[in-house]
Amino acid sequence: MNIMPNRMDYGFMKYQREFEEKALSVLRSGWYVLGKEVASFEENFAAYTGSKCCVGLASGLDALWIAVKLLGIGPGDEVLIQGNTYIASVMGITINGATPVFVEPDEYYQINADKIEEKITEKTKAIMVVHLYGHVADMDKIMHICKKHHLKLIEDCAQSHGALYKGKMTGTFGDAGCFSFYPSKNLGAFGDAGALVTNDAGLAEDARVFRNYGSEKRYYNKVVGANSRLDELQAGLLNVRLAHMEEITEERRQLAEVYSRQLHQENILLPATRRDTCPVWHQYVIRSHRRQELTDYLNGKGIGTIIHYPIPPHLSEAYRSLGHRKGDFPITEEYADTVLSIPLYTDMREEEQRYTIDCINAFT
Ligand SMILES: *Cc1c(COP(=O)(O)O)cnc(C)c1O
Repeated sequence: MNIMPNRMDYGFMKYQREFEEKALSVLRSGWYVLGKEVASFEENFAAYTGSKCCVGLASGLDALWIAVKLLGIGPGDEVLIQGNTYIASVMGITINGATPVFVEPDEYYQINADKIEEKITEKTKAIMVVHLYGHVADMDKIMHICKKHHLKLIEDCAQSHGALYKGKMTGTFGDAGCFSFYPSKNLGAFGDAGALVTNDAGLAEDARVFRNYGSEKRYYNKVVGANSRLDELQAGLLNVRLAHMEEITEERRQLAEVYSRQLHQENILLPATRRDTCPVWHQYVIRSHRRQELTDYLNGKGIGTIIHYPIPPHLSEAYRSLGHRKGDFPITEEYADTVLSIPLYTDMREEEQRYTIDCINAFT
């Protein structure tokens, strides 16, 4: 059997008729950027998350850096962020000239809330929480710290569409929730797309103006903005997928549960779920000190895996100027050396998961 880490084609085929009908109707509409589909997706996604406002943008990275910028964070400011994240989260900070200050993760792969306060300085302006792998950060503690130190809170929800903390959706706790709809995300488009959700109508209005060259009214530019518009085709296709989001999320939860119940392998550690949270399993991430042997073995069996992520941002060449060295963040580095994401995707076949489990369990 040949099993890939992700099957975006399955995710398309499951709702193929609806996607094709929507794509045709947008193509035939004669209107392709910022129109009816974008407006209805913004309304639908705001309602889905339980936020007052949603602004469609061109990517998840745009949602992050535009949120950071519009919250007034720039050169000389520090933003706290977990060390083990996708580098885009960090770029959302540094594009604005602000400095990322890394915090070690907890056992759920999220920012360790007990290690945040020791990193706060005069320059700290915000915490960027990344709900990595579709798990959920310790929001009560983090919100308490934000209130106490007057910090902004930005949530990177690129991997956590629909994930819950005490019944409330990620993205709705802070000043802005930033989402990516890159095709491989839980709510994926068929190209690049993103959005920002917020309960602050002023911030939403600023983002709406900013994404379109800073103009509210055509050719009247209030501020220097950017082009980060969501297009009608992606918004339309996202409307289709969003209507099935409960089913999509429930399926991921069931696949994860089967893994957690049926994987019995002494050379791996299974992911743990924080109390009072409901993760959405963007990835099912195991850890192993024999990762290389395990991936080689699984490859030999036709099973593909991915490492999210092999090089933590503080050791990335792109961030050499921050001056970090190996050993600065031991837990972050340990995770980078041992994590492995195993196949989990929409419409994963029972026999595909069965085979994956049997092969992992048989590893010696
Ligand atoms: C995918 C991702 C992003 C960036 O989203 P794009 O749409 O690719 O720009 C940011 N943060 C995290 C955690 C992601 O997984």
